Amino acid sequence: MTAATHHPTMEYSGNLFVVAAPSGAGKSSLVNALMEVDAKLAHSVSHTTRAPRGQEVHGREYYFASDAQFDQMVAQGAFLEWAQVHGNRYGTSRHAIEDRIRQGHDIILEIDYQGALQVKKLFPTASLIFVLPPSWEELRSRLQRRGEDSPEVIEARIRNAAQEVIQVPRFDFVIINERFESALFDLKSIVHAQRLKYSAQRNAKTDVFSALSIP
Ligand code: 5GP
Repeated sequence: MTAATHHPTMEYSGNLFVVAAPSGAGKSSLVNALMEVDAKLAHSVSHTTRAPRGQEVHGREYYFASDAQFDQMVAQGAFLEWAQVHGNRYGTSRHAIEDRIRQGHDIILEIDYQGALQVKKLFPTASLIFVLPPSWEELRSRLQRRGEDSPEVIEARIRNAAQEVIQVPRFDFVIINERFESALFDLKSIVHAQRLKYSAQRNAKTDVFSALSIP
């Protein structure tokens, strides 16, 4: 990261990971498990117009906002990206990302595919990761086991998922979440490989590069 920037997000030189998946594919569990073992990775808390569910806490899972508050943030350009998902709006605030960048973290965003594609336009080096279920049958039985939704809602989620998965060719990496441990290994591998790229190493290990007199 360079010092004294006018647009810090645009000059971000850490690693940015964006994970998208249809509902029920296991994206949140994977990202949470990764965060537990990877202290360099920071999450960003999104804003949403949907109502809190169950144990969700304002400022932890999401910042819950009214439509008017969300409109105001859009008008102020406060979002790096935002999208309408299943009838509600969700957005990643620039401010949250910039804070994490200043703290020197790599960032992982857990957002929908529309947001992921917007982020890729702003940060072409971001790694876009799509998590797929192994089959429609398995996705349906996971949604049923979760027990949060009525059969109608489950069928609607599966119809939405069919629209979402056709976006997978626009992503850099694909994880098929059949077995959790194996999918987590895949996610860790992607993050690790990204950190070993020349440009990432050049930024993270400037002392080594200068000790080796590599310009
Ligand atoms: P849920 O309401 O189940 O928490 O999330 C619904 C969908 O919205 C998920 O696919 C989730 O990843 C996505 N989402 C959460 N935060 C954001 C965000 O900031 N931007 C976008 N574009 N999608 C988000």
